[in-house]
Amino acid sequence: MGARAKLTLKPEVCDRCGACMDVCPEGVLQVGPRYIYCDWAGCTDCRACVDACEAGAIGPASRGANVRRTRSVAATSGSGERRRSKSDPRDEGARSGGRSGRRRSPKVDAPWSLSEVAAALAVALALVVAKNALLGSETVSELPVRGLVWARTGTLTVYYGLMLAFLVWLVRRRGSDLFQAFSLKTFAPVYALWTVAVVLLGWFVYVAYAFIVRALGWEPPPSAVSDLTDVFGPDVLGLGLAIVMVVLVGPFVEELVFRGMVLPFASTRWGVAVGTGVSALLFAASHFSLWRFVPLAFLGVALAWLRMSSLSLVPSIAAHALYNAVAVAAAFYVAGVL
Ligand code: SF4
Ligand code: SF4
Repeated sequence: MGARAKLTLKPEVCDRCGACMDVCPEGVLQVGPRYIYCDWAGCTDCRACVDACEAGAIGPASRGANVRRTRSVAATSGSGERRRSKSDPRDEGARSGGRSGRRRSPKVDAPWSLSEVAAALAVALALVVAKNALLGSETVSELPVRGLVWARTGTLTVYYGLMLAFLVWLVRRRGSDLFQAFSLKTFAPVYALWTVAVVLLGWFVYVAYAFIVRALGWEPPPSAVSDLTDVFGPDVLGLGLAIVMVVLVGPFVEELVFRGMVLPFASTRWGVAVGTGVSALLFAASHFSLWRFVPLAFLGVALAWLRMSSLSLVPSIAAHALYNAVAVAAAFYVAGVL
């Protein structure tokens, strides 16, 4: 069943400070209220988490470890790991890594539950259906051009506003805040470069996919080509509305759901690879476009990698926004606005 454990994990002594997840360069550690989970297949055995764990809840799996017993508490993970005493073969100086040595207060939320993730997806689906029904209604479609633009923009505003309000409610319900619950935090500068690389790669895959699929005779539907200027209007006001909705608000809300909730939820339960696949497929499906499903799924994988490797949601939000910005710029350039 998967790769062998490279470390000894002792959830019974973990104070859920989150330090191990912060330092893990592979993003393979997850800490919950009663467990420590590691995707061993992705673990490089760098021992950064061992150094960071002041509580001694993570230790090397070596047989000759210098065991220091401080507690005798039943393991609570139920993961089948061996019950061992608290140990840390490294000296205190190395373990503290230059930090003060004081135990930090718990800052890690419990992982998103199945009911929370399912509720967020259900609300998103219901709102999309309501939005599409409203925009497809006779009342809206008979509006004059400018009225139609405002109706579409207003509907999108309500859609994203309600979705965001629901996510905030979920976060408040668990006594957390948006930044902590969704890992909206700083990240290593190198991920700014990776953010740009993900955008370039995403568009390269999209263009290559479009070229191949068209060569095979599958033309994109009109909505997949340039509906941005149709939705927001082919003028400067439309460009401003598209920037707000498509570049800023949309990527933020979508990243909260797919890389902020679905990805950590599925990764904690089934491993990072499965979590990445599940979040990417749901992300692609949420756009209701069969023609764009493959490139969007690929983008979902790249964004999930960015989220997991940077340990922050900010780079994937930035990459998603930049990706959409390219689409907006292209659409309004073709329309002669830029
Ligand atoms: S660093 Fe140690 S105490 Fe803190 S969350 Fe990780 S395993 Fe638990
Ligand atoms: S910090 Fe290093 S040793 Fe610890 S789980 Fe991550 S990759 Fe593995």
